[in-house]
This record gives sequence, C-alpha cells and structure tokens, in this order.
Amino acid sequence: MALGLNVFNLFYKLKVLVLVTLFVMVLWTTFGYLVDTRQEIPKAKSMVEFFRKVTSLQHSQEEEKIESTADVPMVKSFQSPCPALSPYLRGASKLSFKPSVTLEEVQKENPQVAKGRYHPVECSALQHVAILIPHRNREKHLLYLLQHLHPFLQRQQLDYGIYVIHQAGNTKFNRAKLLNVGYLEALKEANWDCFIFHDVDLVPENDFNIYMCDTQPKHLVVGRNNTGYRVEMQKMKVVRPPADVARYTMIFHNRDHGNEENRERMKLLRQVSRTWKTDGLNSCSYKLLSVEHNPLYINITVDFSVQPKVS
Ligand code: UDP
Ligand code: MN
Repeated sequence: MALGLNVFNLFYKLKVLVLVTLFVMVLWTTFGYLVDTRQEIPKAKSMVEFFRKVTSLQHSQEEEKIESTADVPMVKSFQSPCPALSPYLRGASKLSFKPSVTLEEVQKENPQVAKGRYHPVECSALQHVAILIPHRNREKHLLYLLQHLHPFLQRQQLDYGIYVIHQAGNTKFNRAKLLNVGYLEALKEANWDCFIFHDVDLVPENDFNIYMCDTQPKHLVVGRNNTGYRVEMQKMKVVRPPADVARYTMIFHNRDHGNEENRERMKLLRQVSRTWKTDGLNSCSYKLLSVEHNPLYINITVDFSVQPKVS
C-alpha cells in the first residue's frame, strides 16, 4: 500500500509537473504571439498605407494618361450621368443678332469651349454630339450661329463638337456631300454618338429642342419642307419635336452664287430608290485641304473640283 501510496505520490507530482509545464508553454506562446502581433500591426498598417499610395498613384497616372492622350478631356469614371433634363434650360427666347459682333467677343463669352469642343464638368454627358455645318461664304451667319449655339448646347449639358465643313473654290455648292465629308472626318477624331446636320442660317430659339439622337432620326426644324428620303427606305421614320419647341430664327439672305437651284432635283429625287445604296457615304471622294482646330469650331476645308489621286 505504502508503495502504492508512494507510487501514487510520484504520479501526482508528475501530473502537477506536466500541468505546470503545459501552463508555462501556453503562457509562453501567448506572450510570443502578443509580441509578434505588436510588431505585425504597424507592419500591416504600413503595408496598407503603401498599397494605398501605389493604387492612388496608378489612378492619377491613368487619369493623366486619359487627359493627355485624348483630344477631348474624357469624363472621369466616378462622375454620375447628367440628368435626363438639364436644370439649365430656359425655354423659348427671342433672338437678336448684333452685326458688329466679332469672333473674339464670342470666344470670350464661351471660355469653356476649346478647339470647338465642350463637355460638362459637373456630370458625364448622356451623348457625344457632333454638329455639322456646311459652309461657304457665310461668315457673318456662322458668327451669329456660333454665338447662340454654344451657350444653347452648354445649357443642354452635352459633350459636343462643332464642325464647319467649308467648300473651297467656286464649283457648285454641294451641301449633302459636305455633310458626308463632315461625318467621315469627325469620326476620325472622336467616337460621336450623334450627328446634327445644321444650316448656318437657322438659329434655334428654344433650348428644350434637345440636340440629342433618338433611336430614329429626328428633324429638328419643324415647318420647313423636308423630303424624308433615304431614311424612309431604311425603314426609319423621321421624328419631330413639338412645333412650339422646334422653332428657328432664319437669317435672311439672297440666293448665293454657285448654289443655283438644281433643275434636275425632282428627277434626282425620283431616282433615290435606285441609287441611295451606292451614291453617298461609300462613294464619297473628295480632296481634303485642311483640318483646323479653331477655338470655337473645327474647320474642315474640302475641294470637290479635283478628284483625289488614287494611290
Ligand atoms: N450654304 C453656304 N453657302 C452657300 C450656300 C449654302 O454656306 O453658298 C449652306 C449654309 O449652311 C446654308 C445651307 O447651305 O444654310 C443651305 O443653303 P441655303 O441657305 O441657300 O438654302 P435655303 O435657304 O433655301 O434653305
Ligand atoms: Mn438659307
């Protein structure tokens, strides 16, 4: 029994020793862990800080890249889209044209326009719109139009560019071909969503006449004669905004030299159903003389009197 007792005593002491060792080991590991984490926390913090710096650096470099490579400053990704109806619209207004107006004055009135282009800074525009104006020898009309159209389009919160397609020389004025050239050349420098074909002598009166594209072509001028050809053959209908909104002031002028009425025009219109697929954009040949990025508009000068050399 004594042995038994002794053995029991020994066994008990061993048990206590094991327990104490275990306890010390647990204490040691916990202490070690605490020391480690105390070092790890600042380490982790500085890692996160470093990561943040790297990503923000990458971000600003990307933004710089976007701004420096694109002709038009791109709208940054974090911007929310502009509202469906701009809060800056004013509705109908009576237009007046001051004959003494100068290009410098109009430039000063539109400081946010650069190289003929503008985009809202407060939101991401819903559409990128190219305005195409066929032009020859109507400088005063162009000035009146630019003076009214720039603020008008800015009030509509559009990302837009104004292209004036100028026909050089004295050959017969070809409005439709100039529009085709404008379309092809404008697409070379930006990914436009929408094209507005605009006469130089029609100035919109009401900014609720929104210069954006629908799924269908829209005739912005209501009340003037319009053939609706081509578009009808493509199974499209011409959409028109309400007549009180789509009002324009027409600048009075006499008929231009080199733009005499085409006596063949009714005959040509009758042929459209046969010719529209081959006569137009895909057969549009022209000699491009220059593309100038003026402060208020992009000027594209073309010559239709000579055929470009086929290389
Ligand atoms: N146009 C031009 N110079 C000309 C003839 C026409 O700039 O010598 C352009 C201008 O944009 C004009 C459009 O073509 O608004 C339509 O021509 P016009 O004004 O003669 O047509 P209408 O007054 O009969 O609509
Ligand atoms: Mn006219």
